[in-house]
Amino acid sequence: MEKKTGLKMTPQRAAILEYLEGNTKHPSADDIYRAIKEKYPMVSFATVYNTLETLRNMGMVWELNIDDERKRYDPNTRPHHHLICLRCRRVVDVRVDFEIEYTDKMAEGFMVTGHHVEFYGVCSECQKLGPQN
Ligand code: ZN
Ligand code: MN
Repeated sequence: MEKKTGLKMTPQRAAILEYLEGNTKHPSADDIYRAIKEKYPMVSFATVYNTLETLRNMGMVWELNIDDERKRYDPNTRPHHHLICLRCRRVVDVRVDFEIEYTDKMAEGFMVTGHHVEFYGVCSECQKLGPQN
């Protein structure tokens, strides 16, 4: 991860970046807070959250709104798609690259700058638990 960003590298910020680097679990701010707190017990949730906002504004993390219960953070900012399990809220990357072709007609006059496809369903672990209502 690029670190020449002008972001003051406080130990907490470094810890957040370190935790996120290569992390494919799409953690929430709360997940990140709990992990960082183990190493930096003085860190506050607000610090973690504000740092995530800063990193997002700098394009260093992707804020995903795939889970309507909480925002999720992805250090992989290259375009890719996601799957979400509607039972356990696990979010995983779609490992296949595919492109959606736009026609000018489809874009309704928009200059399209990106797209993100969300697949939802039941993950393999949750399927093992059987039908659930
Ligand atoms: Zn699941
Ligand atoms: Mn991802």
